[in-house]
Parts: sequence; structure tokens; C-alpha cells
Amino acid sequence: MPVLNPSARPVPLSPTLAINEAIAHKRREGKPVLALGFGEAGIPIHPALTRELAGAADRGAYGPVAGSAALREAAAGYWGRRGLPTDPDLVVCGPGSKPLLFALMTALGGEIAIPAPSWVSYAAQAAITGAGAVPVATPPGEGGVPNPALLADAVVRARAAGRAIRAVVVTLPDNPTGTLASEGTVRRLCAVAREHDLVIISDEIYRDLLHDPARAVPSPAAFAPERTVVTTALSKSLAAGGWRLGVARLPEGRFGRELRDGLLGIASELWSSAPAPMQHAAAYAFGEPSELVGHIDRSRRLHAAVTGAVARRFAEAGARVREPEAAFYVYPDFAPLRDHLREAHGVRTGAELCTLLLDRYGVGVLPASAFGEPADALRMRVATSLLYGDTDEQRLTALADADPVSLPWIASGLNRLTEVLADLKAASGHTLAPALAG
Ligand code: PLP
Repeated sequence: MPVLNPSARPVPLSPTLAINEAIAHKRREGKPVLALGFGEAGIPIHPALTRELAGAADRGAYGPVAGSAALREAAAGYWGRRGLPTDPDLVVCGPGSKPLLFALMTALGGEIAIPAPSWVSYAAQAAITGAGAVPVATPPGEGGVPNPALLADAVVRARAAGRAIRAVVVTLPDNPTGTLASEGTVRRLCAVAREHDLVIISDEIYRDLLHDPARAVPSPAAFAPERTVVTTALSKSLAAGGWRLGVARLPEGRFGRELRDGLLGIASELWSSAPAPMQHAAAYAFGEPSELVGHIDRSRRLHAAVTGAVARRFAEAGARVREPEAAFYVYPDFAPLRDHLREAHGVRTGAELCTLLLDRYGVGVLPASAFGEPADALRMRVATSLLYGDTDEQRLTALADADPVSLPWIASGLNRLTEVLADLKAASGHTLAPALAG
């Protein structure tokens, strides 16, 4: 009898979602955990957003594929206030920026150059489209943007081999490193994109979470407007990832209009339209009323305080780590402890190090290999936002506090991290009591 093969082309669960599930499993077993794996903003939804969403709950119709006129106008205004004048007709809305990115890659066709390291889903999505991704290393300290000279080399080599790299993705500011590339690097990348006729997809979902609000985000849409698509969403700055609402800003001109048509064709077959009540709440959010601006300001300060404290704990333990500049990510490198980790713990790869942290200590982080780095890289992404509290009451207190790292629940998470890292550094690696180690 023929055997049914239900997964002829298996796509593994996204590592960020998988670590979340592994941690939830440990919690259900009653084991103490320090959840630092998942890229969620960790702050409560602002009541003004809930009010807007509730007020629009009766909107049951599908609505236009590109999104409502009100939302597209509000998103255009949002970009306009950031120095990127935008035609609302060139805004396309989707259920999160993740499906928008996938639809863009599908519409563009061809291979996609991505930064190494970069957010887990770019490479996975490019693989699902069948075209694949070409990872290009970022300059030191400037996560999110492929080194322009290496990008040019990769494009030339791919073309010589008969393959076409069609687009390059940049993340400004960056997940996983929590850093922001310089304007000079972005301008050089734009020059390479022009010379080799690449489309630039600029994922700016963390734009409003740059820790220093006076610092400008160098968007390629300012330097190569004819070829840059910008995406953003409510997921990070307003912690509404579960609401699934994102927007893309397409370039002016013939190419932008053709890309819009291609994107809308794909959207019409995949999601039809983003949920109408969410679109209404998003239109309100992109209008940037002062209550939401204040909320984002407070969250930015909280992310800055806690990522800074977490980075210091890793540095004290002997890891190499840069001062975080944006969002809620720290990206420490345990290369200075490589010999010790091998001798004391038998750890040779980043994945082994993260498995040790999860299994022995209940600390959930993601290895650099999940972000496209080599298996032996001992770097890891540490997402700090689940330290902010277990309840909305704790999270709101953390948002309002001038010194959140001294709040008891955040301090205890940080102290636990210090203990775990000290144990990891201890010669035998078995000094921490199992109850605490979880
Ligand atoms: N881009 C980056 C860099 C992200 O980190 C994420 C979420 O983790 C997304 C895009 C997708 O966000 P969403 O689909 O919620 O808009």
C-alpha cells in the first residue's frame, strides 16, 4: 500500500518560536526558567490601542487587499515624519511584516542577499520561495547590513556562476545584534545596489526602539529611494506582535508600481486583507498620538536599561559583548572562554552551549547558528524583554520606574544570570545547586 508522506518538504519550526515552546515545556514541568530566547517586546498593550480595537470589532468585511485608506494614509504620515515622504497608494498592509517580507521575496524572485548574522526568517523564507538566500557578513559592530564590498563580490560571483541575486535585505536597527549600522555603510550599500541593480528591502521594525532617540536611522529609502522597500509593524514598539499587523512602503516610479501589483496579487491569494479591526487600531497608532509616543519612549528607556545591565553581566563573566544600541537584544560572544568551555563542559559549538544553558540552568537563549553564523561561533542572542515581569502590573511598574533594574523581580533575574554565568566559568561546571540550576 502506498505510504502517505505528509511532509514532503518539511519546514522546521522557526527557532525563536521553538525556544519559546521549549521554555514553556520546562515551566509546565515546574522547573525554574530564565526565558531569554523569544523576541517579544514584553510590555503590555496600551489601553488606547485596546479601546480602538474594541471599537472596530464589528468590522467583519474583508476590505481592500492593500489595506484601508485610513491606515495607508496614517502609515504614509508616520514615514513622512521620519524624512521619508510617502504616497499612501504605495503602502501595502499585511498580517504582520513577516508575510509581507515573504510576499516581497516571492514577487521579486531570484536569490536574496541577507546579512550574516540576521533574523532567523529571512533565510528560511528565501528557502521556501525556492530561490534561497546568500549570507554576507556584516562589518564588525554594524549588525543588519551586509558589508558592501563583500556584497558586491557575492553578486559578481553568483552572476558568473549563472545565478541571479535580485535583492538585499537590511535590518535597521538590527535583530539579533541590537546594533545600528552607520550612515556611511548604508550609503555604500546603496551604491553597490545601484551598480548591480539590486532591490533593497529595509526592515525597520525596530526603528523606534533606538536607545538614543536623538540618533537618526540611516534608511536606504533616503539614499536609494527608487529601489528601496521599507517594512515595519506594530509588533515591537507597541508590543502587539500577536495582533499581526505590518506595512510595506514601496518606491515611487514604474518599478514601485509594478512591484505593488505583484505584491497585491500574492496578498490577494494568501491573506486577502489584514484583519479590519487591527487595521483601524494600526491607523490610530501610526497617527502617533502623544499617549502612544510616551508609551514607546518609556519602553525604549526600559529596553536600554535592561539590555545594558545584561550586557554588563556577560562582560563580567568574560564574554565579549558590545554595548546594546537598540531594541531588547544582547549578542555576547563566548570565544574568549572557548578552551574552558571545551575542557570543563565538552562544549564545542554555539548550539551545544545553548543546550547546556537550557538543560542544566533553565536559561533559554538562541545560538548564533540560528541566525546564519557558523556552528562553532560561540555567540548567542539574548532577548531581555521577558525579564520585565510575569504580570502586566510588574511590567507597568518597570515601564514607569526610573531605575527598573533595581526592581526586585528584574534584579533577581539579573542575579540568577550572574550565578549561572559564574557556574559556567567555574572549572568543574557543577557548583550550582540543581534546584537553582533548574
Ligand atoms: N523583522 C524582524 C527583524 C523581526 O525581528 C521580526 C519579529 O521578530 C519581524 C520582522 C516580524 O515581525 P511581524 O511579523 O510581527 O511584523
